Amino acid sequence: MITWEEYIERISKMRKNIYINGEVIGRDDPRVVKGTHTFKVTFDKAQDPEYRDLVVVKSHLTGKPINRWTHIHQSVEDLLNKQLITRKLCNLTGGCIQRCMGTDAMNALSVVTKDCDLKYGTNYYERWLKYLEYFQENDIVASCGQTDAKGDRSKRPGEQPDPDQYVHVVERRPDGVVVRGAKLHNTSAMVDEIIVIPTRALRENEGDYAIAFAIPADAEGVYLISKYSEFSTRAPGLEAPLAEVGDVECMVVLDDVFVPNERIFINGETEFGGQLALLFALFHRHSYSGCKPGMADVMMGTAALVTDYLGIAKAPHIRERMAEMVSMAEIVFACGIAAGHHARKAASGTYVPDIVFANIGRRHAGHNIYHEYALLSEMAGGLAATLPHSRDYNSPVVGDFVRKYVTRRAGVSAENHYRAWHLAADLLVSHTASVAHVAGLHGGGSPIMEDIAVMNSYDLESKKNLAKYLAGIKE
Ligand SMILES: Cc1cc2nc3c(=O)[nH]c(=O)nc-3n(C[C@H](O)[C@H](O)[C@H](O)COP(=O)(O)OP(=O)(O)OC[C@H]3O[C@@H](n4cnc5c(N)ncnc54)[C@H](O)[C@@H]3O)c2cc1C
Repeated sequence: MITWEEYIERISKMRKNIYINGEVIGRDDPRVVKGTHTFKVTFDKAQDPEYRDLVVVKSHLTGKPINRWTHIHQSVEDLLNKQLITRKLCNLTGGCIQRCMGTDAMNALSVVTKDCDLKYGTNYYERWLKYLEYFQENDIVASCGQTDAKGDRSKRPGEQPDPDQYVHVVERRPDGVVVRGAKLHNTSAMVDEIIVIPTRALRENEGDYAIAFAIPADAEGVYLISKYSEFSTRAPGLEAPLAEVGDVECMVVLDDVFVPNERIFINGETEFGGQLALLFALFHRHSYSGCKPGMADVMMGTAALVTDYLGIAKAPHIRERMAEMVSMAEIVFACGIAAGHHARKAASGTYVPDIVFANIGRRHAGHNIYHEYALLSEMAGGLAATLPHSRDYNSPVVGDFVRKYVTRRAGVSAENHYRAWHLAADLLVSHTASVAHVAGLHGGGSPIMEDIAVMNSYDLESKKNLAKYLAGIKE
């Protein structure tokens, strides 16, 4: 395991390939530094006695203590603990901790490489295990590049007028492959490694698209065209933990990138390329059953705080709104627990969450995301959108007015009123909030994808037979 400072030192040495607004920048550029603070808790809490038991686990490969974000789930307990710690750490950053994509991709690879070897006699699992050892030993932070650009959605990969709309192999060499294409909406640009996997089920003639591999994020030919966002900065004296974190999303362009054999984990086996796409989505949707309740905790806490300061906490309609927020969060969390308890053990020994429960959890989270924001918005009132800037709060000319008119209830200082509404503003109307809104809907797959996953697995036929039995229908 390493510390956050060591991780920062490591990424600072990477080749400059982050592009922002017409410039190529280093990983120490102030615009992207806050994007590393999201991962910080995953390193720091490994050293913290209060969290250590949940963050540090024993590697099933080497027996050494490792960070959970590099772990392969070996039991139901592992799945439940991952879900729980995801929730707890998201509480501390006030949003996504951005490290689960790599973990989820590694867990999916652990299952699919083994299954592919069992069917075709390939040696992907052994290769992947070597990579896992490196991954765990160095406490690697990875993103998962799954979502292709996809071009015309009504056409399959091989039918696109531009074949690069889906990442594909353009050259096969004895020592590896050359790939081209782009992975969009990648969280985050500030990682050590990118794990690339297919985005969808593939047909037999789509072998060039059935490619999975890991590359350093600064490998030759990789361009990270990035978009950063942050919560609004605070004037001196009004600093807050939430204002320390930011987000750096990116378009990962793979412009004829060479991938050596030892880093290729699926290569042409279309059936397993498709399974990898589905399994990553499954592990990732299970992660959502931890992070979404974690973010809901922050929203509920903020709603409880501002309604308390408004003097309306006990009003019947506020209690009703709060009950709605609680039930939305806890249903998603409960689905994650159920998915963990009903996990199956794959041939590799990895525990895989239940498809139906994991997808239903994610479905509820996605369907309710804007409703949650609406409830907080309703309770916080218009001030969340119009709060004066923090330099005006400190201003010798207008500061007294700001402090006077943001105050609601006696017994609570003007500063605490201001801080509470600043938090509500950060969650509802900031640049990072708007990214989080869309991420809450599309991250892990657009809402329809969960419906498809549930309906492909759910035993509706037995329910129909039940109806026939009760109706007295004999066929
Ligand atoms: C903030 C953020 C972070 C993300 N992080 C990651 C990440 O780290 N890694 C990663 O791989 N992905 C990531 N994603 C991507 C996410 O998984 C995708 O946004 C999601 O899968 C939807 O794909 P899309 O954005 O290309 O949407 P589109 O495919 O453009 O979908 C737009 C609409 O078209 C519909 N649609 C699409 N195809 C069809 C079709 N064939 N028939 C009918 N309707 C169709 C969809 O249902 C949707 O309503 C992230 C997304 C966001 C917003």
